[in-house]
Amino acid sequence: MITMQFIDLKAQQQQRLADEQSLREIVDARIAAVLDHGKYILGPEVAELEKRLAAYVGVEHCIAVASGTDALLIALMALGVGAGDEVITTPFSYIATAETIALLGAVPVYTDIDSRTYNLDPSKIEVAITPRTKAIIPVSLYGQPADFFAINTIAERHGLPVIEDGAQSFGAQQRGQRSCSLSTVGTTSFFPSKPLGGYGDGGACFTNDAEIAGLMRRISRHGQSRRYFHTEVGVNGRIDTLQAAILLAKLEVFDGEVACRQQIGERYSKCLQKAGVITTPYLELGNTSVYAQYTIQVDNRTSVQEHLKAYGIPTAVHYPLLLSQQPALQPFKSSSTSICSTPLAKSASERVMSLPMHPYLSERDQDQVVSAVTAALH
Ligand SMILES: *Cc1c(COP(=O)(O)O)cnc(C)c1O
Repeated sequence: MITMQFIDLKAQQQQRLADEQSLREIVDARIAAVLDHGKYILGPEVAELEKRLAAYVGVEHCIAVASGTDALLIALMALGVGAGDEVITTPFSYIATAETIALLGAVPVYTDIDSRTYNLDPSKIEVAITPRTKAIIPVSLYGQPADFFAINTIAERHGLPVIEDGAQSFGAQQRGQRSCSLSTVGTTSFFPSKPLGGYGDGGACFTNDAEIAGLMRRISRHGQSRRYFHTEVGVNGRIDTLQAAILLAKLEVFDGEVACRQQIGERYSKCLQKAGVITTPYLELGNTSVYAQYTIQVDNRTSVQEHLKAYGIPTAVHYPLLLSQQPALQPFKSSSTSICSTPLAKSASERVMSLPMHPYLSERDQDQVVSAVTAALH
């Protein structure tokens, strides 16, 4: 029996850098530095992280926040989304994408996905735009950017801002530009299992717009513009100094991890295609993926999952229910929902299955997964 992890968060700590230090040693030193200076809220590591992340993504402004969910909420608040507004998004995502819209009293309007990339199909968006539409949130699902070239063109025509939910795509590129720099605002998550994962919750907002950046920064800090003077209604959405320190350490190995993810993703696809698995991940021309998830489609998903489980190979389904089917979101429906049926998203939700994926997945483990999937399909 194999014992393989779906995402191995421990292996990376043993990674050695050029100077022979292990990542664990760098993390320990970074944590110790915070314990020594004691500035647990908005300590110097937060500003250092924001600077590093903005440079990495290639934008002017980064605001580090408490989670990927807060990043979305804060971006929506900064763009003035509120009661009665509509926000166009995908039904095929994690709950946070639509939950934050609903929290503000706005309504998520779902349009269908491209069945190959699982991302919003730009050609389905325009018909869903109404006078109440306030923003568009494409999700860069599984690690591949949505089609921002097409989506931004539509958004510009209607004067709408675009928020990229880049929680799964941090480090990916489109036409040489990094995810989170591809639209008005980009948001990401540092949840431990995300491509750039911390050791706890964290997230960030990115933009080139100074005014939106200022708003997002204040909103993430109780709308405070100077001490005990509050100009906006905000949230307590700051990232912890300790988490920023851990992320700074993890940035040291991030480029190498992205390269490993891409290599493993490509190898998986080559081997699975050889074994007759038809729907491996499809990369749009000009895109790279960081394979936050390596996701295939199968008939009889439950039986394939059980078969792999018997071999000790964990799998997961991202996501078995569409956001439009979630009980909590039923009260948040727009009158225009009827024109936005999403059959391709529905079909994907019934067929997708994610395989073990992390930068330290050995070739031996990859081969075990491939042969178990192959055996399950034949
Ligand atoms: C993980 C995730 C989020 C939420 O991020 P948290 O840091 O867990 O709050 C939002 N959107 C998508 C697509 C995600 O995968």
